[in-house]
Amino acid sequence: MIRLAIVALFLIAFVLFWNFISSSNTRIMNKVSKISIPDSIKQNGENMDEKIVKSYEQWKSELTEEEFRILREKGTERAFTGKYWDHFETGIYTCAGCGTELFESDTKFDAGCGWPSYFQPLDKSRIIYKEDKSAGMVRTEVMCAKCGGHLGHVFDDGPEPTGLRYCINSGSMNFIKK
Ligand SMILES: [Zn+2]
Repeated sequence: MIRLAIVALFLIAFVLFWNFISSSNTRIMNKVSKISIPDSIKQNGENMDEKIVKSYEQWKSELTEEEFRILREKGTERAFTGKYWDHFETGIYTCAGCGTELFESDTKFDAGCGWPSYFQPLDKSRIIYKEDKSAGMVRTEVMCAKCGGHLGHVFDDGPEPTGLRYCINSGSMNFIKK
């Protein structure tokens, strides 16, 4: 009887844990929907409806090896090795694939994780989100809305005002000093 109770408890714990893990994407998307930043697409001359589509060969020849591995093959740079994890100058971080302005230095914070971290994107429409169940985890992948390049992941343990942490590979971005 006790054994049965233990098995039942284990099952309940597992189900609760699984629900918690698999709903992280829903929780994150809920927070993303609450980000309030003006839609500045037109002002900055960026039109997210005009997607950039290039062949494997084209990307391969235009990007550096590291950029290609991250942006096109969803690679991840090693923590504390990228060019921006401890970079705190004032300016804009752009997509290394297409130049779209993605994040502002005002929204960057030191998360201590070894990758550049931001609590919100420069404009909501510039990021696309996708549930990612690779590597035995359920995470929310973030990509550039214009070229579809993989940038990193977003987690819901960031600071206010959004509670989000966009954990981005340095190698997927360039920096424009302001
Ligand atoms: Zn891009």
